[in-house]
Parts: sequence; C-alpha cells; structure tokens
Amino acid sequence: MDVQVHENCAATADCQDNDNDTGLSKTIATRSAGLKKLEDFIPRAGRAYQATRNLDYGMAKHSNVSNLSPYIRHRLITEEEVLAAVLNVHSETDAFKFVQEVFWRSYWKGSLEHRGMLWSEYQQSLPWNLDSLRKDQKRWTTYQQAVAGQTNIQPFNDWVTELLTTGYVHNHARMWFASVWIFTLQLPWELGADFFLRNLLDGDAASNTLAWRWVAGLHTKDKTYLATASNIRKCSGERFADTCDFTLGLKRLATTAQPQQENLSPGALQTTSIDWPKPITCVLGQNTVAGVLLTEDDLCTDLPFQPSAIAVLSATPRSTIAPTNELVQQFTNAALIDSLQRLTEESQAEVCQHAMTEEEIVHWAVEQKVEQLFHPYAPSGPTQIRLLNLAPKLAAKGIKLTAFMRDYDRLVWPHANKGFFQLGKQIPSFLSVMELGQNLSADRILNGL
Ligand SMILES: Cc1cc2nc3c(=O)[nH]c(=O)nc-3n(C[C@H](O)[C@H](O)[C@H](O)COP(=O)(O)OP(=O)(O)OC[C@H]3O[C@@H](n4cnc5c(N)ncnc54)[C@H](O)[C@@H]3O)c2cc1C
Repeated sequence: MDVQVHENCAATADCQDNDNDTGLSKTIATRSAGLKKLEDFIPRAGRAYQATRNLDYGMAKHSNVSNLSPYIRHRLITEEEVLAAVLNVHSETDAFKFVQEVFWRSYWKGSLEHRGMLWSEYQQSLPWNLDSLRKDQKRWTTYQQAVAGQTNIQPFNDWVTELLTTGYVHNHARMWFASVWIFTLQLPWELGADFFLRNLLDGDAASNTLAWRWVAGLHTKDKTYLATASNIRKCSGERFADTCDFTLGLKRLATTAQPQQENLSPGALQTTSIDWPKPITCVLGQNTVAGVLLTEDDLCTDLPFQPSAIAVLSATPRSTIAPTNELVQQFTNAALIDSLQRLTEESQAEVCQHAMTEEEIVHWAVEQKVEQLFHPYAPSGPTQIRLLNLAPKLAAKGIKLTAFMRDYDRLVWPHANKGFFQLGKQIPSFLSVMELGQNLSADRILNGL
C-alpha cells in the first residue's frame, strides 16, 4: 500500500541533482567520507559539543554536532572507531556527553532486541493506523499537511523541508517534531515514526521507533516530552527572532501532553532474555566452505575469519506502507557499493560485484559451493526480516545461514534491558574492556583515509 500524499519528492530530487541551487552538499556514502567527517569533527567533540549540542541552527548549519549518524547507522564507520578517535584527543571527562550519545544508540539497539516482538507488532499496526486515519477526513487532512510541511506551525514545516531535502534533522528538532506530531497535531506516533524512518538517511528501527515511543510517554512510563515555544526559540539560534509566536504558529502548540494509549500487546512490551549468537569459533565448522553476507545494517569489512566468498544483500525498503525517500535509497545503495569496493581491495575472497536479492544470493551461494553463510547479526528491523526469509531458501540447498556478533554489541547490548541510566553507569567499564587506545588506535583509523 502506498501513501497518496505529496512529500515534496520533486524538491528532493532537484536538490540531489543540483547542489549549487540550494547550497546543500550531498552526504557521500563512503567510508572515507565518513572518516573525513569524523576527523573534521574531533576537535569539537569535547566541551564544545557539550555546550552547544542542543542547538539547532537549521538546514546545513549543524557543525556543532557530528552528522555521523548515517555512517554509523550502516556501520561504514563503527561506534568503536568513533569512540576511539574522539577519546584519543579528548579526556573521558571532556568527551563525556559525546560518548554518552553514542551509547544512547547502543542502548536503543539493545533495548529493542530485548523486546523481540515489538518491531514486528509495530509494523503490523501501520496499515491499520493509516486506514483509520483515512476514514476520518479531518485527521487525514492534518496528516497530509504534516507530511507535506504545510501545517500552520512554521518551524514544523521547516523541519519537514529539511528532512525531505537532506535526510537529516537535528536531535532536538526530532524531539520537537515528534512532540508536535503527537500532542499538537494529535496524529498517531506510529505513522510519525514511519515517516521519519523512510526519510532519514540514518533511519534506524531501534533509535527511531523507541525515541518516538519515548516522546509519546510509552517507553518510560508516564514520562512524556512536551515541546514548548520558549524552548524551540531558545535552541533554534536566531532563526525565529524576527517573527512573533503567533505568526510562527507557536501559540498553537499543545500545552499539555495527553497520555497516549498503548496499542501494542503486553507480549510486545515484555523484556525477554536473548540467546545471543555463539562466538564464531564455536559455530564455524572445520574444513567448511564458509561465505560472508554483509547487509546494509553492518557494512564493516572487518571480518572475524577468512571467508572463501563474500556477498552483499541489496537494500531493504524501510516501510511497508510507503516508499523510501529516493535520497535515502541513493545513500544506502552507494554505501553498499562502497563496501563491495572495499571488500574487493581488502579481501582474498571471491567478492560478488553487485548487491543481490535473496534469490540471487541462493544462486550465488550454490555456485560458490558455500556450505555455511555467515552474516553480522542483524538486529530487529527490515533487514532481519529479509534474513529470516532467506534462511529456509538457503537451507533447501543445504546451506546454513548463521549470525556472528560484533564484540561491541555483545559487550553493550545485554545491558540494555532496563533504563538508559543503568547502561550509562557501565560506560567507563565498557571503555576499559574495549581498550580503545590499544586495539583500535585512532591514528590507525584515520590513517585509513
Ligand atoms: C524522534 C527521534 C527519532 C530518531 N531517529 C533516529 C534514527 O532513525 N536513527 C538514528 O541514528 N538516530 C535517531 N535519533 C537520535 C538522534 O536524533 C540522531 O542519532 C542524531 O540527531 C544524529 O545526528 P549526529 O550524528 O549529528 O549526532 P551527534 O550528536 O553528533 O551524536 C553522535 C552519534 O551518537 C548517536 N546518537 C546521538 N544522539 C542519539 C540519540 N538520542 N539516540 C540514539 N543515538 C544517538 C548517533 O549515532 C550519532 O551519530 C532519533 C531521535 C529522535 C528524538
């Protein structure tokens, strides 16, 4: 099912083709571009980040934050690499806030893993949410105006324009946006999260879904996030200084956060224990012809063993109710190509030359005589569903699909079964276990440029 609303797609395409018209620069989906961004940002990752990170200066003016999320989301650069590079220059005290934000990502990832049914139930609720909205003319109009950036709240419209034309919105604006969507426009959080997921370059099942639930007061019980006119003004630079709240539409903002009804089942919310994948040494058969399958969730080419053949899974649509923004598709596809190029240069293995569908992968694995195909553990989200569909197709050919887990995820995610505070307390011990300065020296990472 497609959403029949105009989401300024033409504007997106123009911006991509002709950067000179807009002054926007395209986010380049390569590891080397990510490393360069990291290198440029490092001097600002300490106290300066802490002091200014909440300020949203508007489109193409986000140098106070790292803008690394699209790279981290696909693991063109890893969390560990980012932490190592930053802590090579700043003390843990000075970089405390930045480090903590990176661990927020890990918290959301682990947290969604601990709620094994949440993602699939949320996905199943989307068509129903959309249909109910369609049946209510007034709310449907509100929805259409919201996703087209044509509400009577000017800052909200600006965030929509930025999202659709760049695939990025500042963290504080994401919070305001979600709050206005839920409490002022009174639209379902589920559809807002879906709108974000398919339009953000960094769109991530865990960070996005759970952050929306957090704003709605559904993640931390009874703790909602209400955007206020004064906070939006205070943290948006001088952008709105010349216009009064009335003209901006900020007078229309909800002044109370109505508790949201929980539509997911108790089973989907329950924290469950997880059988994390066994270490690769326990599952890699001796003399087995083993291949590796990378996915858009983890394009890190650092592999735990030497495979005989490597393939990459093609990009997965982000949403079941509407197409993924073209800008996002382009970024993801370019990231997949970049990983293939790096694998070809770095690995002794036979590397396939294009990202493949499930059917092509089965055919390729048979051709390569692969007996066991390993992939980096894919957490809850669209890619995981693709892999669940792929497993029986491979099994029918006698090929076993097996996940391997990155050390970082194995270390951190199991601690995400309670609130962030509990995980946050462990950050110093995580950093010390990772021995960032030794195993992954920042110099080595940045020399990869
Ligand atoms: C409603 C809502 C939806 C969101 N959806 C996503 C999403 O789909 N994908 C996504 O990666 N982030 C999401 N976030 C978190 C956050 O807004 C972005 O990670 C951040 O804005 C990315 O910008 P940056 O790289 O400049 O971040 P920086 O401030 O430079 O932070 C460095 C890195 O830490 C991580 N990070 C920072 N803040 C957070 C956070 N609050 N939660 C999780 N990780 C964080 C990101 O990987 C980021 O690249 C969402 C937040 C909200 C409120």
